[in-house]
Amino acid sequence: MAFGETPEVLLAQEVRKRYTKDGPWAVDGISLDLRRGEVVSIVGPNGAGKSTLIQMMLGLLVPDSGTIRIFGTDMATGRRKVAHRINYASTDLSLPYSLTVRENLMAYALIYNMSNIRERIEKVLVTLNLEPFRDIRVGRLSTGQVARMGIAKALINDPELLFLDEPTATLDPEVSAQLRATLQGMVRDRNMTLLYTSHNMREVERFSDRLYLMNRGRLVAEGTVPALMTRFDTEDLEALFLQMVQRERESDE
Ligand code: ADP
Repeated sequence: MAFGETPEVLLAQEVRKRYTKDGPWAVDGISLDLRRGEVVSIVGPNGAGKSTLIQMMLGLLVPDSGTIRIFGTDMATGRRKVAHRINYASTDLSLPYSLTVRENLMAYALIYNMSNIRERIEKVLVTLNLEPFRDIRVGRLSTGQVARMGIAKALINDPELLFLDEPTATLDPEVSAQLRATLQGMVRDRNMTLLYTSHNMREVERFSDRLYLMNRGRLVAEGTVPALMTRFDTEDLEALFLQMVQRERESDE
């Protein structure tokens, strides 16, 4: 650990964000932490505030109050200092469609000013099973191949902290399983930290070391899957999720 760094990879404290003055809070006082080598998921219904929170973690949106520190650096002001150590992929990624897979990866690799660009691109192509498509224009790929391309792009700088917003939403079960195994290997071998969102509760159960349940901009519960199952007396994360959303809705009525 470099001098002056905190033991946490990421530390969010009382983060709030709304999109309009006097409007509802998209993120309403969230505190959480991520440690090295963890796979952590954020689970919550549409509109819960997950993407807004991740955009703030990336330093792309600035919190109205509270702070997010990554490797000890405040993302609202010091994003450039740590940008080369993190990366991100989401389903709404738009890539230059007239460039080939390899050219796209080259364009992203150049941003990171890396010395071993060719080697790195080859490695990422193999990791994501994209080698057969290396010279195909991205506009001609299938939805699942584009999703893999988005993740390849996110791995190009060998990030220590990776954010994936619904990485497996458009992938078939076999490719999803391959991707999880690849990511698990990176977490194990490189001590990478992975934060991801998913609506696939079976995936969350099997893949996450810990999870945060989020609803209406707030964290409702946090813990390992077994701990949450015990606490909420259920053997099914999907049932727990539905129960949580229903309970909050009733408390409003
Ligand atoms: P999630 O990722 O969990 O689906 P979001 O972070 O996208 O949730 O949205 C949280 C809340 O913020 C929702 O009420 C949504 O309508 C609102 N919101 C998200 N993005 C914008 C935006 N660009 N402008 C205004 N409101 C937004």
